[in-house]
Amino acid sequence: MLEKMEILDVEKLVGDFEVMTKDAENVQRQTLKMILEENGCAEYLQNMGLNGRTDPESFKACVPLVTHKDLESYIQRVADGAFSPILTRKPITTISLSSGTTQGKPKFVPFNDELMETTLQIYRTSFAFRNREFPIENGKALQFIYSSKQSKTKGGLFAGTATTNVFRNSQFKKAMTAMQSECCSPDEVIFGPDFHQSLYCHLLCGLIFHEEIQLISSSFAHSIVLAFRTFEKVWEELCDDIREGVLSSRITLPSVRSAMAKLLKPNPELADLIENKCSRLSHWYGLIPELFPNVKYIYGIMTGSMEPYLKKLRHYAADVPLISADYGSSEGWIGANINPSLPPESTTYAVLPNIGYFEFIPLKENVEEHMQENGNVSFLSTEPKPVGLTEVKVGEEYEVIITSFAGLYRYRLGDVVKVMGFHNSTPELKFVCRRNLMLTINIDKNTEKDLQLAVEEAAKLIAEEKLEVIDFSSNVDVSTDPGHYVIFWEISGEVSDEVLKECCNCLDRSFVDAGYVSSRKVNAIGPLELRVVWKGTFHKILDHYLGLGAVVSQFKTPRCVGPTNNKVLQILCDNVVKNYFSTAF
Ligand code: AMP
Repeated sequence: MLEKMEILDVEKLVGDFEVMTKDAENVQRQTLKMILEENGCAEYLQNMGLNGRTDPESFKACVPLVTHKDLESYIQRVADGAFSPILTRKPITTISLSSGTTQGKPKFVPFNDELMETTLQIYRTSFAFRNREFPIENGKALQFIYSSKQSKTKGGLFAGTATTNVFRNSQFKKAMTAMQSECCSPDEVIFGPDFHQSLYCHLLCGLIFHEEIQLISSSFAHSIVLAFRTFEKVWEELCDDIREGVLSSRITLPSVRSAMAKLLKPNPELADLIENKCSRLSHWYGLIPELFPNVKYIYGIMTGSMEPYLKKLRHYAADVPLISADYGSSEGWIGANINPSLPPESTTYAVLPNIGYFEFIPLKENVEEHMQENGNVSFLSTEPKPVGLTEVKVGEEYEVIITSFAGLYRYRLGDVVKVMGFHNSTPELKFVCRRNLMLTINIDKNTEKDLQLAVEEAAKLIAEEKLEVIDFSSNVDVSTDPGHYVIFWEISGEVSDEVLKECCNCLDRSFVDAGYVSSRKVNAIGPLELRVVWKGTFHKILDHYLGLGAVVSQFKTPRCVGPTNNKVLQILCDNVVKNYFSTAF
């Protein structure tokens, strides 16, 4: 009975969302009012001369647009334990470390109960829509989730990645239970300090509960692909553990060993079953439904920098639907995926108008001028003129600005989105790219998406040989004259020089941006270089970020490595096996 009561009322959640999105403009006004009334006494807002006004017009007139750099000193004071209210009235007790894959080091951003509440709201909203189309039954979720170490700042605040702060929050587990998505792994595995050991145990737990698994998820799709790539290597060992009921000696952490001992019992039938299934599969195609016969869908962020992993994920998933998770960041959430039956490539995110105050800088008017920022190029017009949530236009691209309940005011998130339509009066956004992830030498501009498309095109040439690009990154090399693009590839097997030369030419030709093509034709940009790196190189990059306090759950491979990210560049350059220059132009 109790269990039943805890299950979410999906129809009510959908109904509430419909009501709220019909009145998005008003809800935005009210939300801004709440944020400013609650935090107007904080030092940052006091200095802006709002004098108690909470309307959007005064807010825009008084408060400047900022980037993380502008707020760094305020956030640092919060982290150092400042006594007075700096960004919010209520003291901030937790700091989130954003993944920091763009700039090479994690950033500090404030986290509080209100942010936790909006996180749960977004989870519940998308679950409600998802569950109408893909209902799950009572069972378990195989969640590849990991926690970073939670440290303390100088001022005694907890600091961890945003996902860690969420997973550690007591509300998280309750919410997962209400969504029938309880993780099959014990806490000791989720919060274990060694990601490799946790991953192995997640897989083992998944196999133990294989018939109960209703969904497979992670924060970002990369972790799911990484998990099943690992499975390919360790499946025999996993089967041995299940057969004997004894955990592999690779698990050395006593807390993890004792938690797993409670679940692991000798089960030779299950070991035989898995062994049989694995040996029957061809190239691991359809591994997921084979192992987990009742799985309803696979869930995790699959758009943006996660798109390159879709091909591999589909290979493992066969006909199990892939559903992209919601859109947000350590700084705050933005939108929910309320059209779960759309494939990840077409996924849009409907903005929840009560979780923050949102503005959008139209990119069309602001692209004339560009400037160098931290070695990456970002586009900044002298005076960007943001528009409100309900003023955006279908088909246009915008940079997202967040005002949150956690002390960020008119904060440039750095993401580019495209408005694909409206749900009632709230926009449905497609994630386009990070704004500063640009390959550019002179007049050329290529985004992460352009790079992804070029790589997809060129990778077709090795797919003919049943090989794949495991991961990729890029860099602009201006040490040569003229400068040129460098693309790094990790490939799943041996490819002939001939084919790789073709791939290199194909990459060069696939950047169709007019600035690039014209520069290449007159040799104002030199021939593109393809550098093939050793297998395992991208794992080293992941390990590097983990060493900096990042967490696998939030990891995004840096697709364009700028000079500020010299450690990653060094890892890539140190691991080059061979390189090729394009002869396409
Ligand atoms: P983090 O800094 O680790 O909090 O990561 C936040 C960033 O991840 C966002 O600013 C986006 O660039 C990216 N991101 C988050 N959600 C999505 C999504 N649904 N689709 C594409 N990219 C996303």
